[in-house]
Amino acid sequence: MEMFENTGRTEISDLGEFGLIDHLTKNIELKNSSSSKGVGDDAAVIGDGDVKTLVSTDMLLEGVHFDLSYIPLKHLGYKAVAVNVSDIYAMNGTPKQITVSIGLSNRFSLEAVEELYAGIYLACEKFGVDLVGGDTSSSRQGLVISITAVGEAKADKITYRSGAQENDLLCVSGDVGAAYMGLQLLEREKQVYMSNPDMQPDLEGWDYIVGRQLKPEARKDIIELLAEKDIQPTSMIDVSDGVASEIFHLCKHSNVGMNVFEEKLPIDHQTIQMAEELKIDVTTVALNGGEDYELLFTIKQADFEKIKDSRMVTVIGHCTAKEEGIHIITRNNNKFTLRAQGWQHLEG
Ligand code: ADP
Ligand code: MG
Repeated sequence: MEMFENTGRTEISDLGEFGLIDHLTKNIELKNSSSSKGVGDDAAVIGDGDVKTLVSTDMLLEGVHFDLSYIPLKHLGYKAVAVNVSDIYAMNGTPKQITVSIGLSNRFSLEAVEELYAGIYLACEKFGVDLVGGDTSSSRQGLVISITAVGEAKADKITYRSGAQENDLLCVSGDVGAAYMGLQLLEREKQVYMSNPDMQPDLEGWDYIVGRQLKPEARKDIIELLAEKDIQPTSMIDVSDGVASEIFHLCKHSNVGMNVFEEKLPIDHQTIQMAEELKIDVTTVALNGGEDYELLFTIKQADFEKIKDSRMVTVIGHCTAKEEGIHIITRNNNKFTLRAQGWQHLEG
């Protein structure tokens, strides 16, 4: 048996997802002039010409990202495409193609996989993309879906996480926190059902939050709105992990601070109702819920007039100097340091 001097072992959980990605990719030196932007944004940017290609991949694993006891396969197929094209929209681009790779255990029948693909094709219609390839494999356990989305954008229209400047306005599309409340409700009803299979899940009156969890939309319409209003966002990201986490990404890449106003956060009434029922602070839900797939972006103050009457976009804050840090201003005008998970008292 061999002996090693260094028997150290670092747990991946000590680094976290973002720490791990940084660690594995920090020494990359791009060799090709066509590799315009590599790791670090919602999509890679490729090409030497005026029209760039955008590429983004996301993987969904059964038991980690979805639970087939409450998401129908057709919805899962739709969602898998939506979350991928969302990253292309987050670059201010237009998705054009996807590839779909699946790992299937013998638990799945042809009919089941057809359902999954019915959702995938529905999303292809909706977002105007062509399915152009993929890979198929058996899996020991559970279902794996990995999708790569390819898109296009003019070089001068591409929006990175890094362009925000002091005094820019922070905007978010739609509303936030609903998908997380939908998930909590589905989990609760699953527990009820498992302890008593005669009980049918009671989702009555919660259609909006359940829909936001099971059938999220990517915001094609927001990209179209920005183009129509001739607004070039200074930075942009899509909300997959939660507004707070995405704000940290924008601030880090753009070297700015931000003030976010609690009272401005757009929250649907079902989200508020469910948060009350579950006795969770609704602001924490809105900031940290995740899976909203809304677009979070910054614009120049001069562009405010162009969107101030739009019901699709809400201004929730503004950029400050980096040294000022990242804060949330509460309804009673208290200032807290924003944390990626929740927020902590600072002053006032
Ligand atoms: P998003 O939430 O927008 O999909 P991620 O947080 O998953 O973005 O990824 C952040 C960045 O890290 C992206 O540019 C992505 O391409 C890159 N990335 C993620 N995982 C890996 C990996 N295993 N190897 C190389 N790059 C990765
Ligand atoms: Mg993203």
